[in-house]
Amino acid sequence: MALRRNPHVLVVGGSDSSGGAGIARDIETISSIGVRSCLAVTALTVQTHESVTEIHHSPPSLVAGQMRAALQTDDVAAIKIGMLATAENVVAVAAVLRENPHVPAILDPVLASTSGRALLEAGAIEVMKRDLMPLCSLVTPNGFELALLVGAERMADEDGAVRQGRELLAANAQALLIKGGHASGPQSTDILLRRNQQPVRFDAPRLAASMRGTGCILASAIAAHLAKAGPLEDSVRKGKLFVFEKLQKTSP
Ligand code: PLP
Repeated sequence: MALRRNPHVLVVGGSDSSGGAGIARDIETISSIGVRSCLAVTALTVQTHESVTEIHHSPPSLVAGQMRAALQTDDVAAIKIGMLATAENVVAVAAVLRENPHVPAILDPVLASTSGRALLEAGAIEVMKRDLMPLCSLVTPNGFELALLVGAERMADEDGAVRQGRELLAANAQALLIKGGHASGPQSTDILLRRNQQPVRFDAPRLAASMRGTGCILASAIAAHLAKAGPLEDSVRKGKLFVFEKLQKTSP
């Protein structure tokens, strides 16, 4: 693949006023990997690090408009999608991806905050599975999100999560990275699943540290490496290392 002179990641997501997650984290991550960002803001939120107190959705025409403007203006080499808030926004983002099939899209299927506030309305999950996930090069659910996406009652153990992932892969996704950050054990293991390929495991020592926005950081780091023309597996490995090093700096 030819190297691009000024690759950008188009970040599609919500603003977290605390800066702990959302587009602030995305831009910070992408910039530290040496790639520029452009934006389509899907929602404005009022948050502290403990709770989400207000959410204002962007209208879908505004989301699609921001995306189309970015794609016309900049050399968008990857798209990173986070909080979408509404089913209408899911449909709008899917429409723009369909117009740009050559730009790889990474979807972090943000459903709720750690504090428990819904960041995607309940009815939109099915729309995301049907209309958006199949268009994305990679979807990055954690164990809880994966369980919700397949309609399971609770988060599964590793073997169960791989079974759930295969189910999702067969019907709705090109590739999945099942994140193990919420599981237990000495290693934090993420598993890359692709059709007709063996799963690939990415391990890092589990650190006694917790940080908000790790899902945003991982998906953004992967998108930034893809934008630099990295292959998918390599970009995931570098993204995982990026999160590990960031956590290491915050660990006691
Ligand atoms: N707010 C926004 C805009 C987000 O995109 C996310 C997660 O992606 C969150 C809040 C939740 O972050 P956390 O679970 O770290 O609180």
